[in-house]
Amino acid sequence: MTDQFAYPADRESASAAKVQALEALLIEKGIITDTTVDKVLGYFESEMTPLNGQKIVARAWVDTDFADLLAKDAPAAIAQLDLADGMSGAEGEHIAAVLNEPGVHNLVICTLCSCFPWPVLGLPPYWYKDPVFRARAAREPRAVLTELGVPLDDDTEVRVWDSSGHSRWFVVPNRPEGTDGWSEEKLAELVTTEAMIGVAVVEPPTVAAGAGA
Ligand code: FE
Repeated sequence: MTDQFAYPADRESASAAKVQALEALLIEKGIITDTTVDKVLGYFESEMTPLNGQKIVARAWVDTDFADLLAKDAPAAIAQLDLADGMSGAEGEHIAAVLNEPGVHNLVICTLCSCFPWPVLGLPPYWYKDPVFRARAAREPRAVLTELGVPLDDDTEVRVWDSSGHSRWFVVPNRPEGTDGWSEEKLAELVTTEAMIGVAVVEPPTVAAGAGA
């Protein structure tokens, strides 16, 4: 980590203290109640989770018409699936998908802050908000991906998508080998949050997992 981005070791407890002070003030002013924050967090921990993204990716893998629509108009495609209410709210209206393909790997970041497609991926992981990750992924995505264990050959183009209040990107990773004939449910289980951000690929199933498919 460079000194430029060094931050204090107590940053998490300092952030937590700030959040608690802000929440207490908002409650005192009558703007929210003492259950508001827990309710919002609970919603994003139970309804708006990466399980939604996993189902979307699995559908795109088995249905090329759906994948085409997803690339052109993600909210319209997502509306076709039987997902939790609220997919079009809470930033869902700004969701956009980018599809990996042979020779193209997509990576999503938010250089400015932490913009994230909440309805399909839940709340952003801590590292996604890390200033070092955000800066380096923009400047040297190939090096960062190599460090994260994403194998890219020289011929593979890396496309970096900067999420914002207007576009909240997520990645449809490549479908792994060895999954022919798999059900959507089974395919969805292979998809990780990291793969839908582009910092990982979906690994082919192990022989043991593939047996009995
Ligand atoms: Fe942001």
